[in-house]
Amino acid sequence: MKLVWFRNDLRLHGHTPLTEALATGEPVMAVYCLCPAQWDAHQVAPLRRWYVLHSLLELGDALADKGVDLHVLECDDFAGVADALTTLVQEHGITALYCNREYPLNELNRDRAVADTLRPLGVTLNGSDDGVLVPPGALRTGKGTPYTVFGAYKRRWDVWMEHQPPAAPASPNWPAGKGRFVGRQRVEQALAAIDLPVRLTDLWQPGEQAALTQLARFADKSLAGYRQQRDFPALDGTSSLSTALSAGTLSVAACYRAAMQAMADAGARDGAACWVGELAWRDFYRQIMARFPRLARGAAFRPETDLLQWHDDEALFQAWCQGRTGYPLVDAAMRQLVATGWMHNRLRMLTAMFLSKHLWIDWRRGEAFFMEHLMDGDFAANNGGWQWSASTGTDAVPYFRVFSPVRQSQRFDPDGKFIARYVPELAHLDNKTIHEPWKQPLLAPDYPPPCVPHAGVRERVTERFKQAKADY
Ligand code: FAD
Repeated sequence: MKLVWFRNDLRLHGHTPLTEALATGEPVMAVYCLCPAQWDAHQVAPLRRWYVLHSLLELGDALADKGVDLHVLECDDFAGVADALTTLVQEHGITALYCNREYPLNELNRDRAVADTLRPLGVTLNGSDDGVLVPPGALRTGKGTPYTVFGAYKRRWDVWMEHQPPAAPASPNWPAGKGRFVGRQRVEQALAAIDLPVRLTDLWQPGEQAALTQLARFADKSLAGYRQQRDFPALDGTSSLSTALSAGTLSVAACYRAAMQAMADAGARDGAACWVGELAWRDFYRQIMARFPRLARGAAFRPETDLLQWHDDEALFQAWCQGRTGYPLVDAAMRQLVATGWMHNRLRMLTAMFLSKHLWIDWRRGEAFFMEHLMDGDFAANNGGWQWSASTGTDAVPYFRVFSPVRQSQRFDPDGKFIARYVPELAHLDNKTIHEPWKQPLLAPDYPPPCVPHAGVRERVTERFKQAKADY
């Protein structure tokens, strides 16, 4: 018997471990390890749990339809996974385990423990890298070190993709008959324990089928205009596929192929190329996470920036969390996050930079707050995005990158439509005043004045970073 272990790859399409296991012609079963205490320890957002559990239900039913059993094992946290899998392996006479590799530290330690336990039992382990387009470690600088600057990484990444594009997925060799979904009830119970308003869950569609439909819709309607539209949060200009990609209900190879297909149309070429660049960012942060495990322990990527003395003002932090900083676009973004479980990329950069540079609050607090709310919460992308924004990370341009919250608002939400959607107390203002309501305080009496001034931020930040560098 062969065993396929599903983790953040909750799909049937483009799933190498599943295809390889089925290709052996031997009986195949599948497993998923439910680790709620692991989710608790890492403040995984309830909405993300909801998405994963629903997607798991869809996966279990789909596998059963294809004749493969799925067993859901309750493991509490990662520490319990090796024992639970060992019991399953012994009960079913499993001779080989197939799964996709995961690169963050806890996942690596979990998998090492599983390998150490199963190898002596004669179980062969087969890892694939469907979670990325280019596996971590595949691209190295001339000195043999990992790439730490995106521009240089992307140039090599493009060459790799040109020569080794993802192969078209093979059709799995499904067995005859119907499979069983063992533990379905446990998944339903875990779902029932998540208390979320319907207005929130109604916004999203979990599962592989919804993800594939969304990809097709995006490729058809928005990909061509992606470069022009992607920075404007009031528009539906990006794919909203981040949750599907991070939970693996959608394969990144399917996204890449969709972009390549779109490129056949000259009108869509530029937008598709731009979008592929975002898939490269995703790979980039995954290889950073894999090569620098200290990041998973909360360390800054640039060690000297761990000397920065943050001022964790609780009132300012709460103002940021609640969308009451007095800067309309920052507040609209934070309210979008809490109200929907998602935030537009430009606004993630803006709010992260605002917290770490204007409010001078430790970026780790913002990183954790994002994880508590994001449905697409993904350790590598979130940590990478936060450290980039706080200038403690891989940004090639150092700490003098400071977004002006007003200028960003005027440029990327020129009509104030996005602000009006999430900050209703400003919705009646004209498209000039809405970016700086403090200039007409009588018109927006319920809205707070700016909690800190923008003037002087760049100078203060520059000085503090220089000092940290000198002290290091
Ligand atoms: P699209 O613009 O359609 O891009 C396609 C896909 O490319 C995305 O779905 C995502 O998988 C990937 N991608 C795009 N931009 C990035 C990026 N900068 N880094 C890594 N991958 C990227 N993304 C997450 O998936 N999970 C997170 O927890 C997360 N946290 C972030 C925190 C901060 C502070 C910042 C600045 C960025 C973060 N991102 C995160 C990256 C990015 O904001 C989201 O991936 C994007 O907004 C998702 O929207 P989309 O699916 O419409 O993206």
